[in-house]
Amino acid sequence: MEINTVQLLDLKKQYKTIKEEVLKVTEEIYESQQFILGQKVEAFEKDIASYCDSQYGIGVSSGTDALLLSLMAADVSHGDYVITTSYSFFATAGSIARLSAKPIFVDICLDTFNISPESIENAINSLSSEERKKVKAIIPVHLYGQSADMDAIIDISRKYNMIVIEDAAQAIGSEYKGKKIGSIGDFGCFSFFPSKNLGAFGDAGLITTNKKELYEKLKILRVHGSNPKYYHKVIGGNFRIDALQAAIIHIKLKYLDEWTKKRQNNADKYRELLKELGDKIKLPIEKESRHTYNQFVILVKERDELKNFLTKHGIGTEIYYPVPLHLQECFSYLNYKQGDLPVSEYAALHSLALPIYPELSEEEITYVAQKIKESKLC
Ligand SMILES: *Cc1c(COP(=O)(O)O)cnc(C)c1O
Repeated sequence: MEINTVQLLDLKKQYKTIKEEVLKVTEEIYESQQFILGQKVEAFEKDIASYCDSQYGIGVSSGTDALLLSLMAADVSHGDYVITTSYSFFATAGSIARLSAKPIFVDICLDTFNISPESIENAINSLSSEERKKVKAIIPVHLYGQSADMDAIIDISRKYNMIVIEDAAQAIGSEYKGKKIGSIGDFGCFSFFPSKNLGAFGDAGLITTNKKELYEKLKILRVHGSNPKYYHKVIGGNFRIDALQAAIIHIKLKYLDEWTKKRQNNADKYRELLKELGDKIKLPIEKESRHTYNQFVILVKERDELKNFLTKHGIGTEIYYPVPLHLQECFSYLNYKQGDLPVSEYAALHSLALPIYPELSEEEITYVAQKIKESKLC
């Protein structure tokens, strides 16, 4: 059959392969009427933590809540500063601002789209020594499935005594110099939003940590700060995860490495097929890391024109992200202006995500590559 559409992501194909297992566990949970936390959640936490080479795992309501809860456990609050990348999904910065702390946005490296250690140093150097003491934490993001430069980030965090919260929402299973991401900083924050590499059937997230005292704190904060029940030493919230979500993610975990391998093979196929375009298109590169390709993001000069051309030929693409965080309207009170973080601004104008999900066929990838070449836009 002639191909004339390729979706950016089609989760129905994956569901077909696990449907029986999912329906079985769903029925089991309905019968048990144990919907929140409990044994299914504990089993899931144990195995995800182990998959991430981390001592502890704590299931939470979403990736966003994983970030918020980690910042709360690090005692980040009003008046504190938190350094992060300007080029990420909104939740990375939103969680900082929701605690009345101040996000300090820094630029990225264009080759990886990840936070630039040099830009972090520059941002710290531009602060007064009084302000420097307020910098409590740093949130690197492992964007699109590729690890940030963790050696440099850990060095800086030690120098200035900062907590490191890895936003690993897009990067479960990725590695940095042989180490699983999420196990390197103080906290690793994962999202199981359906479009992530390991997706729930709704919202869910998880925090990894290797520190027992942080784990204990997170567990208490997850249930309104109560310990024992109805006695509140601290103010937490409802950050609980549903047993259904935990059980479904747990089932899918078995297949994650297989699915990741397929994403990596798809990336290799694109590289092979688009090689002849040379410098006119910038493809993702892999730097000291096991890239897990939550997204396959290219940089092209005439991005909007290419996106329109591909849409016309039935190919789903997406722009991650059209507006860097330092220029978002809700952060106008921080007084950033156009030109402050030029690499993030450049990426926002020229990046385009192509279909990369595991179940794509070779023919579909060939079709996408062929249309990119036909467009003459790169
Ligand atoms: C998806 C995502 C989040 C938020 O996760 P949710 O589960 O949707 O709340 C945070 N950071 C990044 C980089 C993400 O991609």
